[in-house]
Amino acid sequence: MQDPMKQMEFTSRLIHVVGDEGVILNPADQEFYVNDWLGKSHGRTVAVVRPRNTAEVSAIMRLCHQSQTPVVPQGGNTGMSGGATPDMSGAQVILSLNRMKRIHEVDPVNNTLTADAGVVLADIQQAARAVDRYFPLSLGAEGSCTIGGNLATNAGGTGVLRYGNTRDLTLGLEVVLPDGRVWNGLRGLRKDNTGYDLKDLFIGSEGSLGIITGVVLKLFAAPAGRVSAWVGAQEMTSVVTLLNRLQAACGPRLSAFEMMSGPSLALVTRHLEAHVSPLDKTYPYYVLIELADTNMSGLQEMLQDALTLATEDGLIDDCVVAMNEAQSVSMWRLREGISMAQVKAGKAVKHDIALPISSLATFVKEADEAVQKSFPELPIINFGHIGDGNLHYNLLLPLAISNTAYKETTDHLNKSIHDLVTQFNGSISAEHGVGTLRRDELKRYKSSVEMDLMNAVKRAIDPNQIMNPGKLL
Ligand SMILES: Cc1cc2nc3c(=O)[nH]c(=O)nc-3n(C[C@H](O)[C@H](O)[C@H](O)COP(=O)(O)OP(=O)(O)OC[C@H]3O[C@@H](n4cnc5c(N)ncnc54)[C@H](O)[C@@H]3O)c2cc1C
Repeated sequence: MQDPMKQMEFTSRLIHVVGDEGVILNPADQEFYVNDWLGKSHGRTVAVVRPRNTAEVSAIMRLCHQSQTPVVPQGGNTGMSGGATPDMSGAQVILSLNRMKRIHEVDPVNNTLTADAGVVLADIQQAARAVDRYFPLSLGAEGSCTIGGNLATNAGGTGVLRYGNTRDLTLGLEVVLPDGRVWNGLRGLRKDNTGYDLKDLFIGSEGSLGIITGVVLKLFAAPAGRVSAWVGAQEMTSVVTLLNRLQAACGPRLSAFEMMSGPSLALVTRHLEAHVSPLDKTYPYYVLIELADTNMSGLQEMLQDALTLATEDGLIDDCVVAMNEAQSVSMWRLREGISMAQVKAGKAVKHDIALPISSLATFVKEADEAVQKSFPELPIINFGHIGDGNLHYNLLLPLAISNTAYKETTDHLNKSIHDLVTQFNGSISAEHGVGTLRRDELKRYKSSVEMDLMNAVKRAIDPNQIMNPGKLL
């Protein structure tokens, strides 16, 4: 929207819908919204508009539909793929859900929670706890990310092993379509075979099909507590065997199995204050294990026995079981500190990849060899939700590297890692979304049939291509 008169008329119509306090026009006040937290994506916007309810979202979308104004939906702006940042044209509107924060209903009998899409994930967890229920989606950004952003990226996190990702935790959705119509699918049903599952189209669509405004989520029985352990191992194969053994021994009580490589832990202990390894010696791999249940009886012994057996069989070299909640928390701080430690230590080339669990060890061996051959000096920061086959296979470049060298090295590494992922029938985007970061690569790695189907869905729902242009597709 280059014509200043048209732009003024458009923004005054936005103000008419949401009031003065719902529209941010001053560039200084837009800073938070037009940049991502990683400092990698930057843009400009006509206006940041912050509706309070679905009716206002619908009215905004009708305005954008009539004026063909592109819209970038935004939740907590914690995404890692540039999906919530507008482009540099200044022609796109940011529609922020950060004033849509109502939890409408918590139903402990149906085990469901109905909320606006702008509710922060930690507040959803807290509302479930208040009725002695559990909402298991958990990730490092849970104090800032919104449930709408979690849905739009089909977020994963640390609870996927036991409870599945955001898609698995969702029963119903409400979505405002690009022309302003509202699809109310806010149903709390576990069975509903009445045709295509529309909610699954919008989950993981990264704002490219519509604005998610509401959700019905599944709740679970609240665990009575948890038992955590920290393990050191020499080989990735041992880590995978340990996972299989714990799954067999502990069944659904195994609620987390998080791996971090030796260099990942070293990065955290070096760059973050008061982060100390629970083990005296260093190892090539560490695993944070958690068991949880509604009945804690025998849980600690179960984990202890499984780890003793694993030690006797030479699978693991050392381990420590947390004796209380404070020790569990410090183990989790080490795992959750990796993202921040990377930001402090250098410029990371990130790969958010998924592999069949049976291929993980061979993949890591081949990927390490490929990286070491081309860049022998580069620290490999390999960690992840290994119980889901999800690795964050990152390489750390120096902070002072020039933009050109960073881009060249990134392109080289991305191609080599993602080609290998494809050879193992894996995915180049496991949980962070495609956004702008992986958009061009998606075309390279998806079949033309898959791309045709995705483009056909996009054309059917957003024929004018106003929803989050340039992201995902
Ligand atoms: C420290 C840290 C740790 C993290 N750990 C994990 C992790 O373990 N697992 C994981 O999956 N992610 C993780 N993330 C990434 C991020 O938190 C998730 O992707 C999160 O789901 C994004 O939510 P958000 O509200 O911030 O979305 P945003 O960043 O605002 O948006 C993300 C995408 O969703 C779209 N979108 C947002 N809201 C809506 C809506 N209401 N309707 C339609 N589209 C919308 C945006 O357009 C954009 O494409 C982490 C991030 C940080 C900073």
